Amino acid sequence: MLINQKNSELKNIVILATGGTIAGTGEEGKTTNYQAGNLDIQTLISSVSNLDKIANIYGEQIANVDSNDITVNHWLTLANKINELSKQEDIDGFVITHGTDTLEETAYFLDLTVKTSKPVVLTGAMRPSTATSADGPLNLYQSVALAASDLSIEQGCMVVFSDGIYSGRNVQKVNTFKTNAFSSIEFGCLGYMRDNIPYFFNKSIKPHTIDSQFDISKLNQLPKVSIAYFNIDADPSILKYFSQSSEGIVIAGAGSGTFSTKWLQAIESLELKGIPVVRSSRIGSGIILEDDAMDKYNNCIPSYTLSPPKARILLSLALTKTKDYGEIKNIFAEY
Ligand code: GLU
Repeated sequence: MLINQKNSELKNIVILATGGTIAGTGEEGKTTNYQAGNLDIQTLISSVSNLDKIANIYGEQIANVDSNDITVNHWLTLANKINELSKQEDIDGFVITHGTDTLEETAYFLDLTVKTSKPVVLTGAMRPSTATSADGPLNLYQSVALAASDLSIEQGCMVVFSDGIYSGRNVQKVNTFKTNAFSSIEFGCLGYMRDNIPYFFNKSIKPHTIDSQFDISKLNQLPKVSIAYFNIDADPSILKYFSQSSEGIVIAGAGSGTFSTKWLQAIESLELKGIPVVRSSRIGSGIILEDDAMDKYNNCIPSYTLSPPKARILLSLALTKTKDYGEIKNIFAEY
C-alpha cells in the first residue's frame, strides 16, 4: 500500500475500519434501535470535517460488523496487516474503528501482538452516525490526530474516547450508553485530547508491542480459553464442560478471584488434565494475588489486574508459548 502523498508536511495515517456504532445508521436524530456497521470507510472519513488538515488518510475496510461478531480471524488480520504496513516508511500510524462492546479486547490483543513503535489507536462511538450529536466524528478526528503525533510513538496500542486517551491494557467499557463510556478506573487515563492536541500525563509500564514476546505471524488460530462466571450456587460442572473443548479456563470469581469449595474441587480434576486456570474477578477493579486457599492446586494462576476477558487473551497467547504452569504464572506477573 502506498499513500498518495497529498501534503508532504502531514503524517500518513491508515484507518482500518471494522464496523460498530461509529459506522451505524438508524432513524434520523435517534440514539437507539440502529444498525451497527452500516457505513463504509470512505463515508466515515468524509463525515469528519478537516480530517485532511491533520493527516493524509488511507482507509481500508477490514470488516463491517457489530463488535460482538469480531473473531480471532479479524484479530489476526488486523495484527498481521499492521505488522506488515508498519514496515513501510511512508506510513506513520494506524487508527482502527471498532464497536465499543468488545473494543477493549481488540485493543489489548493488538497491544500484545503488533510489532511496531508507530502509534496504533482504536476508537468507536456510542451514538450512530445518524444521531443528534453523534460522537463518532470527534472520536475519529482525535484518534487520527493522536496517531499522527510524535508523542504517541512507543505508547503501545491506545484507545481514544470522549477526549480521553487510554492504554489498551487498562481500558474498560464502564457505561452501557453514555458517550463517556471508557475509563481505566483506578489506573486513570494516559492523557487527554483537546481538539487535535494530545496531552500525556501517564505511561503504561507493562510490556507491549515491540517489547511483547508474543508472535502471531505464523498462527491461524489461537488456543481456546473459556471464561467461567462464578456466583452463589454456580454449577461447577461448567468447568468440566469447558475442559472438554478449551486449553485453558479463566474464572470470573467473586471478590479477589474467589469461588466455592465445589469449584475448588473441580479445579483439582482440571489440574490432572493439564488445564491451567486463571483466577480473575468480576469486580472490575483491584488486584488478584496468589492465595493459599484458592491456589491449592498448581494450575491456579492469579490474574493480577486483568479483567476476565483480558486474562483470557493473555492466557491464550501464553499457551502459544508454553504449557508449563510456572511459566504461565510468570507471564501473568510480568504482563
Ligand atoms: N454492539 C455494537 C458493537 O459493539 C454497538 C456498540 C457500539 O459500537 O457502541 O459494535
